[in-house]
Amino acid sequence: MDIFNGLIGNEDIKNTLGNAITNSEFLHAYIIEGAYGTGKHTVARLASMGIMCQNRNLCNGDNRCNICQKILNDSCADVRFYDAFKVDDVRKIKEELYESPTECDYKIYILNNAEKMNVKAQNALLISLEEPPPNVVFFLLCTDATVLLETIRSRAQIIRTKPLTTEQIKAYLDENKVSYGDANVLDEIIISSNGSLGYVLDMLNSSKAESLIKDREKAAELAISLLKNDNSTITTLYSMFNMTRDKLKELFALTLVAYRDMAVVKKTKNVTLCFFTSVKEASSIASKYSVSKILYYYSMVEKGIDALNSNSNVPNTLVSLITNSQKKGK
Ligand SMILES: [Zn+2]
Repeated sequence: MDIFNGLIGNEDIKNTLGNAITNSEFLHAYIIEGAYGTGKHTVARLASMGIMCQNRNLCNGDNRCNICQKILNDSCADVRFYDAFKVDDVRKIKEELYESPTECDYKIYILNNAEKMNVKAQNALLISLEEPPPNVVFFLLCTDATVLLETIRSRAQIIRTKPLTTEQIKAYLDENKVSYGDANVLDEIIISSNGSLGYVLDMLNSSKAESLIKDREKAAELAISLLKNDNSTITTLYSMFNMTRDKLKELFALTLVAYRDMAVVKKTKNVTLCFFTSVKEASSIASKYSVSKILYYYSMVEKGIDALNSNSNVPNTLVSLITNSQKKGK
């Protein structure tokens, strides 16, 4: 059984956790830390299968043992899944912790969104982590392990899932025959995914891709129109007066990413972009403006986000942006 067959990239995890499970030297608690969509659940599920498998020599791919099949279907009684659990959940875990597993040799607890546990819940859990029965394994999934109590972190090994490259994501889509239609749209989705396969799949499975493209077009329009600093700038900004504060904040945040790309391509062409899908496109736009001008508008838009965060309303924020743009023009 190749335990982490199906996990893309993340060679460290395949080596460390994979070997630990193969040699039955795994610990009783792991914190799996990583950004949204980078495979935390996949790691926890595959590790659970590796630990619980009834026949590691034969169990693989389409030929799964009964237990692995159940884990794949989320129907194994001994793999319990909790989301953003509370003190009551921890109490329940504590009550049943010493009961024997129902159908496997181990009991596994997968605690999703572990960082949302409040201190009380974490302290309650700590007792279970300190002296767990030998046949219990915890996987705490979180985006940021530093939010967890040091006492929790010190009792678990931290494993980090890494963002994937564009090539790894595309290879996964090809291998799994995921259809994505327009290749340009796919590029747009991947560039905004920050290496999160989960995000890409989510976008492809929904109608969100269309609004993503629109948002990105709008951000590019804002970025360029501020730099142009002519009559079109005011028209563009006025067209945003009816946006909600959250939507404008999102748009400003995307605009910053566009400016970041533009500033970077002026220095080097050997770069991983975060907004534009090609260096050529980013360079051709950026070539018309100086780095200092790009950075000036970067800081203006950043101030706009600060203002929105301090409860400035949408029209006021946009009016200051117009005023500041015009100052720069003189
Ligand atoms: Zn199996």
